[in-house]
Amino acid sequence: MADVDLDGKRVLVREDFNTPLKNGVVADDSRLRAGLPTIHEALGRGASIILLSHLGRPSEGKFDERLSLRPVADTLSILLDHPVRFAQTWIDGIAAARNSITLCENVRFLAGEKANDDGLARQMASLCDVFVNDAFATAHRAQASTHGVAKYAAIACAGPLLTAELDSLTKALDNPRRPLVAIVGGAKVSSKLAILETLAAKVDSLIVGGGIANTFLKATGYDVGMSLHEPSMVDIAARLTRSCASVPVPVDVVCGSSFSEDTDAIVKKTAQVGANDLIMDLGPMTIKSLCAVIEKAGTVVWNGPLGVFEFDRFARGTRDLAHAIANTNAFTIAGGGDTLAAITAFGVTDSISYISTGGGAFLEFLEGKTLPAVEILEQRSVA
Ligand code: AMP
Repeated sequence: MADVDLDGKRVLVREDFNTPLKNGVVADDSRLRAGLPTIHEALGRGASIILLSHLGRPSEGKFDERLSLRPVADTLSILLDHPVRFAQTWIDGIAAARNSITLCENVRFLAGEKANDDGLARQMASLCDVFVNDAFATAHRAQASTHGVAKYAAIACAGPLLTAELDSLTKALDNPRRPLVAIVGGAKVSSKLAILETLAAKVDSLIVGGGIANTFLKATGYDVGMSLHEPSMVDIAARLTRSCASVPVPVDVVCGSSFSEDTDAIVKKTAQVGANDLIMDLGPMTIKSLCAVIEKAGTVVWNGPLGVFEFDRFARGTRDLAHAIANTNAFTIAGGGDTLAAITAFGVTDSISYISTGGGAFLEFLEGKTLPAVEILEQRSVA
């Protein structure tokens, strides 16, 4: 967007205003706040602005009052200190005066959005002179408002938020300050296999945690008792361990005897885990040595909790590593739903270099996939 003339132009901005609503009022305005600098900049450069976003998952083609973006328009007006007009119907054309801001109704109410319908995308494109995509969180989806419209708009470009997100991710993964340390926690190897494969080939150290670490422990020859692990992934975990420079597995763990909040939390050496134990967190010696790895890192990429962090007794691994990530001098980047919940819960939000706003898009980027909404902008910028 920085390179495009916006003066007197109708600028259609795809935002991520998928914000939680409570009783018809915006309950968390952080995504709206994230969009403000882009809107202010476009306004300052003489644009008339049309904002597009989805909200929730309505059944397509149907209006659902609970998922209307109307309350977002009200909150945006206050945050911007500028009137934001709400357009309930808009796809057939809207008036956009210079210096005006219009927020369109939930784009997912339109049939054809999800299927990236060509006709719908052309209609969207005809509303504007310039299309700006500023929504990283939906960049992994090829839909009419993220992909199709970028094909047909006279000019299509990335907005500052999307650009910043891509720059940070690229810096972390393609041109990292070393050592590059990845931390991958969570429940299952199988659901993060592509991420583990991609990272194992790039990083200097791959720290595994949660149920994922249990499968790696099994691959190393340890008994994990009743712990969450995936027998079908044990061979793959062994292969990943061989292919990566370093995959430190826990030397001690915290076990419970049932998967519950109040089960006794007992620290054991990994070799002492018995048939009835459930490993639910990293042990103190492991935490100490992993914190030292993080302290010496040049770059840290983090996704997934290191234990059952929702239960206080088993939250220490995730909490201590979150603090180590916050305190290291490394460039640090984190993302994913549970990871963001942990970062917020442990109060380290402001100390992470970059927190990715896109759950699915962040994970697909880590997998090394090309994000369709970004790819089309790259093609358009070359053309
Ligand atoms: P994911 O969606 O794959 O990132 O997994 C996150 C979930 O994994 C969280 O709800 C954690 O409680 C859970 N988790 C982490 N470690 C363990 C463990 N050792 N045993 C069972 N569940 C775990």
